[in-house]
Amino acid sequence: MGIELTLPSGKKVEITPVDGKTERLIEDKKLLQSGAFIDKYLSSRIEAVDGDHSLTPQQKEKVVLDMLSGDRNYMLYKLRIESYGPEMIFNYECPSCKKTSGYKVDLNEMLEDGTVKVYPYRDEALRVELPRSGGYALIEYMTGHDERRLAQLKSASFCDATLIRIAELNGNPPTRKDLDDLIGKDLSAIRNGISEMANAGLVSTIELTCLDCGKDYTVGLASIMDFFAPWKTSTESVGP
Ligand SMILES: [Zn+2]
Repeated sequence: MGIELTLPSGKKVEITPVDGKTERLIEDKKLLQSGAFIDKYLSSRIEAVDGDHSLTPQQKEKVVLDMLSGDRNYMLYKLRIESYGPEMIFNYECPSCKKTSGYKVDLNEMLEDGTVKVYPYRDEALRVELPRSGGYALIEYMTGHDERRLAQLKSASFCDATLIRIAELNGNPPTRKDLDDLIGKDLSAIRNGISEMANAGLVSTIELTCLDCGKDYTVGLASIMDFFAPWKTSTESVGP
């Protein structure tokens, strides 16, 4: 019998804690590079979706790809707690001074006190009015498909990433040329819209303070290896 979760969108999934086979996915370099790691990781732990226990592995993977990113994050977060407990100990290198600090967080507590937020979903895509050209862009919620496409981008160019996130520009899917022709103010409006739509479902970005230089910076919990492999760091090895 799995653990029943109601995701922020209302979708219901039943999951089982991570086993040795799923743990092995972390070491699959090809999977990490192809951007399919999270898809395989999550789908391997799904027992049922909306009460349906008969899904094949392929169908489960499709469910995870179609899923909104905020739902995926929620599932990942709960899966981490159910599999390894709420305590997370990790080291992180400060982006500013490059010194490594040790941190210990409680995933349950952070969810309860709002450090990790769960945002409600709105019913429809966000329409962004473009102040210079007078046109509009439609921004939809990010899904697993978008995450995979973003992970597969050869270069991390702003343009390509923005392109993936725009569902429509004046009624059509945008091309790179369309973006090239937009004026800065319109691009800013679109980027603000994309940020606004990122606040949906569970957002696992937290703020850390460097214990060395005191600077604050934000980090996505799922970008830290210890989130998936809690045995990597112990309290003895944590420290500035
Ligand atoms: Zn620092």
